[in-house]
Amino acid sequence: MKLRDLLANGEGQTTEFKKSLSLRREALEALCAMVNAEGARGTVVFGVEPNGTICGIESGNLDTAQRSLSQAIRGGFDPPLHAEIWVEELEGKQLLLLSAERPRSVPYHEYNGRAWIRQGSEKRQLTLSEKDQLRRSRDRAFHPGPWKCDRCGARVGQLISVTVSKDGMKKNYDCSCGGQFWPCT
Ligand SMILES: [Zn+2]
Repeated sequence: MKLRDLLANGEGQTTEFKKSLSLRREALEALCAMVNAEGARGTVVFGVEPNGTICGIESGNLDTAQRSLSQAIRGGFDPPLHAEIWVEELEGKQLLLLSAERPRSVPYHEYNGRAWIRQGSEKRQLTLSEKDQLRRSRDRAFHPGPWKCDRCGARVGQLISVTVSKDGMKKNYDCSCGGQFWPCT
């Protein structure tokens, strides 16, 4: 998306504005919350006030700013988050953009030990049962296999049985022994 469109759309499910680079922790928590939501991606724009006013980031060494941000991402996210950081100029002001996506194989990312989730432009921490639920639904639904039964230990390369309900088509994880197939690790 073009930067102008991104800014015009305002903050939302996949966009967060931060007026200053000093709001790094809040920004990375917001990024964590956005990638953990169903959309699985998010962009933080530094140098923009929450209402969309372009103020630009602090003048200073951009290399240092990018490096310290990428260090915070490397050190803070578990599992590691692949993010991109770049600088754009608009109305003579510099903006730093940070964008990331959650791979389908990752149920959720934690930042500094906390898992956030975004709802609209607000974020909150995931509860234990939500984490558990995400781990089950996301991990398994998209896992290519192979699979192992948690009861009899049978192994299969592919789950070929599916269940069709009003919610759509779903892989069937039931083993004939009464156990459940889970991804082999
Ligand atoms: Zn079994």
